[in-house]
This record gives sequence, C-alpha cells and structure tokens, in this order.
Amino acid sequence: MVSKGDFHLHSTASDGVLSPAEVVDLAAGRGVRVLALTDHDSTEGVAEARQAAARWPGLTLISGVEMGTDIPGAEVHVVGLFLEPEDAELQAALRRLRDSRVGRAQRMVEKLRALGYDVTWEQVLRFAGDGAVGRPHVAHALVEKGYIENVSQAFEGLIDRNGVAYVEREKMTPAEAVRTIVRLGGVAVLAHPADLERLDELLAELKDAGLAAMEVYYKDYDEATIARLRDAADRFGLIPGGGTDFHGIFGEGEPLPGDIPLPDWVADRILELGAKARAVRERRTASR
Ligand code: AMP
Ligand code: FE
Ligand code: FE
Ligand code: ZN
Repeated sequence: MVSKGDFHLHSTASDGVLSPAEVVDLAAGRGVRVLALTDHDSTEGVAEARQAAARWPGLTLISGVEMGTDIPGAEVHVVGLFLEPEDAELQAALRRLRDSRVGRAQRMVEKLRALGYDVTWEQVLRFAGDGAVGRPHVAHALVEKGYIENVSQAFEGLIDRNGVAYVEREKMTPAEAVRTIVRLGGVAVLAHPADLERLDELLAELKDAGLAAMEVYYKDYDEATIARLRDAADRFGLIPGGGTDFHGIFGEGEPLPGDIPLPDWVADRILELGAKARAVRERRTASR
C-alpha cells in the first residue's frame, strides 16, 4: 500500500540522487497525492518540483526543508513544511547553513587524506553538483575510489558522528529551528526521532517552541517503534506524521516514496495546518 502523504523526500538539491522533477514523478506515479520536498538546508529544488507537480492532477506539492540541528551528544533534524521559497529571511538562514557545509566537507576530505584515503574535493563537488553539500557526497567519493562498497559504510566509523574523519558544522538548536519555521509561517516537524535519548524532555521543549508534529511513520520503523512514538506524539499533542526520507542512495531495499503506513487523516490534518499558517506567509512576502 502506498500512503496518501509522504512528508520527507530528498532530491539533487541536497543529497538525493533524483532531480526534483524525478522525485515528484516517482512519488506521484506510485500514487502519493500529498508530498513534501524536504532537502537539507535548501528549497532550491522546489521550483522544478512545482512545475513537475502541475502535470499531475490532484497532486499537492508542499515546499519544505530539513534543518540539521544539534543538542549535546546528538543530532536532531527538524523538517519545516509550507515554507515560502520567496521569503528573504528564510533564504538568508538557509544560505548560512549551506555555507557552513562547504568548509566542513573540505575539512573532512583533508582528514580522510591525512588518514590515507585518496579522495579529492573535486570529486565531492562533482557529486554535490549545485546542491547542498553533505556527507553522502563525501561517501560517494570513497565509494568511487573503491575504499568502501556503499554509502552507508562511510557512516560506520569514518564520517558518522563518532567517526575518525567527522567534522562538526555550525548548527542551530532544535528549538531555534522550530521557532524560525513557525515565525516564517511553516509547520515544524521533528524528524526520525526513534534514536533520540530523553525524547520526552526534548518534546516538551519543542512543543513549547511551536512544534506541530513528529515523524512516527518513518522509512523502516517497525510496529513497536511506531507504537512507542505514536504514544509519545499523543501525550504531547503532536500530529503523528511521517515520510520515507527517500534519497535513492541506500541501494536495494530502500523504501520508495509512499512506502510508509501513514494514515490518510494525518496527511489531511497537516494540510489543514499548512492552510491555517498561510496568512502568516502572505503577510511576510507581501511586505517585501
Ligand atoms: P550531513 O547532512 O552532511 O550531516 O549528512 C547527513 C546525511 O547523511 C543524512 O541526511 C543521510 O542522507 C546520510 N546518512 C546519515 N547516516 C547514514 C547512514 N548510516 N548511511 C547512509 N547515509 C547516512
Ligand atoms: Fe540526507
Ligand atoms: Fe534527517
Ligand atoms: Zn532527510
């Protein structure tokens, strides 16, 4: 069964391998009717995705973004839905975040080279194209040179958070990201929360900041994980959202757009919230 909604998808505007139009066509072709393009720190794919979406009757495309944030000891990703790409303040914030990715990826390449891995910055840039540079692009360079067989292996000791070639980058806190998204008229969603420690504490803080939903139906979450997260979402008054986080980089078995048991009513509820916040977005872009 393909879900009605998929609220977490990546394209070549960040570390996905399909172009924005290809992501839309793949998702819509499979039967997804509400989809959000949520590239890392970028809405650069949204214009192309909108054009592609216009060719599918009955399809709703939501412009989104996934922001990487930090708490001590862990990374927390926050998805912003319904953000207006024309918003100058949004673009200034995203540009800052993307810029911090470049120097950080360069330093990871330097670290890898010092460790004896002959990967180059030119390779990484080639894989990133004009999208936001990310660790998967560094991983692709390692695969191309034959050091590892797939992208995931780079996250087993090399460029994962505790890996030998990992480099930190400038990030905001999750509460700052949530507040920013809400202020810009978006809907804030906590992404893939299953592995976060002290989730209740974080949810209490983010709910205060304006969090509307968290991902419960995500990629490969099993029934027990879904039940645990669903309970947490209910306790904090959050919509149990979700998405496949499709990148096209994880090989055989990677869930495709719509491969999540997300209930239809959740998609409808998120659309309602997005419509409610439209007034905020219109006020912002009208005053430019
Ligand atoms: P970055 O945005 O540069 O911090 O890199 C994070 C990205 O790396 C995530 O969005 C995923 O696309 C990818 N990633 C994280 N963990 C893994 C993993 N274990 N295997 C493959 N890709 C991963
Ligand atoms: Fe990614
Ligand atoms: Fe993420
Ligand atoms: Zn993602």
